[in-house]
Amino acid sequence: MYESSRLRHEAINLALSTALLLLGTSPVYGQQDPSFGHQVGVGLDAYIKDKRLAILPLGSIEYHGPSGPTLTDSIIAEGFARRLASELKGSLYPVLSYTHAPAHSAAYPSTLSVRPEVVTMLLADVLRGIVENGFSKILVLNGHDGNIGPARTAISQITREQPGTQMVLVSWWETLPTPDVEELGLFTSGNGGHGHGGPLELSVTAVFAPKSVKAGQGPDLPSLGGHADFPYYLEKSDTTGWPGYSGKLSEISAERGEVLVDMAVQRIGDLVRAWLADESKPGSW
Ligand SMILES: [Zn+2]
Repeated sequence: MYESSRLRHEAINLALSTALLLLGTSPVYGQQDPSFGHQVGVGLDAYIKDKRLAILPLGSIEYHGPSGPTLTDSIIAEGFARRLASELKGSLYPVLSYTHAPAHSAAYPSTLSVRPEVVTMLLADVLRGIVENGFSKILVLNGHDGNIGPARTAISQITREQPGTQMVLVSWWETLPTPDVEELGLFTSGNGGHGHGGPLELSVTAVFAPKSVKAGQGPDLPSLGGHADFPYYLEKSDTTGWPGYSGKLSEISAERGEVLVDMAVQRIGDLVRAWLADESKPGSW
């Protein structure tokens, strides 16, 4: 290499590392990933003492229609958990994706299901482990309907077993009830865009993983009305006639997703801040 070209090369390298340093992305000088799994042993005690709670995201490996990725639920749960961890001074744990997929998605390609009793036992061990790591408060940030049963059971078991512990389970889509989303006027899909692999879910996914969502890859579907206005659980082993997604895939957009993510982060954040501020308040009883 000629001297002048070597000097130019060095100057470019210096400019690049300065830019990386300013952006905080230098592998040498950049900021460390604040999540639990990226802490080195030497500062671990201080890190755990500094955090107010642990945050465990729960996802799935499940077909999400022609426009959504298989890891949709994990991407969303981890995305929310990461944002909330920085707002709430929480320690983000790795997302759990190997979970139970219910019968209605089992028949579709790419779904991977672990038996619900195994997930319940696994989750109980994970929660116990987080407590043994030094956290007495855990926010379980759920992205998948099939996790609700196992998560509630495991939380009930471990809070009873481990004195001084408190755990909150939030399923992100439940922070965005249909009437509130309808009021925003983001979707014309019906149900406020809610539904498996539908425009609400995939617009939120597009915020956290824009390149993993492709809008409009299947025909827009009519709204799936429910059978009643109160909560109920109806599961079917045979999904004949259902293409594995819901609503109008043409209405998926990251811009719409941003509005929903901001609203959900605000609502979950408010709940957790209130919980941390006054832990003497009753729980779900
Ligand atoms: Zn999903």
